[in-house]
Amino acid sequence: MTAQEIKHITKFQAALDRAYADGYHVTAIIKKQGQHVAYLLENRDGSKLHIITRAGLNLTCDCEAADHHTYCMHRAYVTNFLMQRADAAKRDAERVQEAEAQFIRDTALPIQANQAPHIYR
Ligand SMILES: [Zn+2]
Repeated sequence: MTAQEIKHITKFQAALDRAYADGYHVTAIIKKQGQHVAYLLENRDGSKLHIITRAGLNLTCDCEAADHHTYCMHRAYVTNFLMQRADAAKRDAERVQEAEAQFIRDTALPIQANQAPHIYR
């Protein structure tokens, strides 16, 4: 890992920690035209509301920090939210595969050597 990558991760973690400290959470996901998706983010007492728009892997935020090209906690939060969902989807896919494999093992008929298709002999 390069020093630049470590710096990025540290920045991301610090921003994410701030978002959690403020109690930010996703309150709505709005599908927009084409590939665009908007995430409505609200802090703990609902006094702050931000819209983070995703186009592909790019996130943009409507907050002041983003206006000044600063990496904001809202983007960090949504990035983490998306990573968690991706992990969950991957785990679900793995579980389906495991279940299928188990089903195949459970239901497989024992094949006698002399019954195996010719190609396997
Ligand atoms: Zn922001």
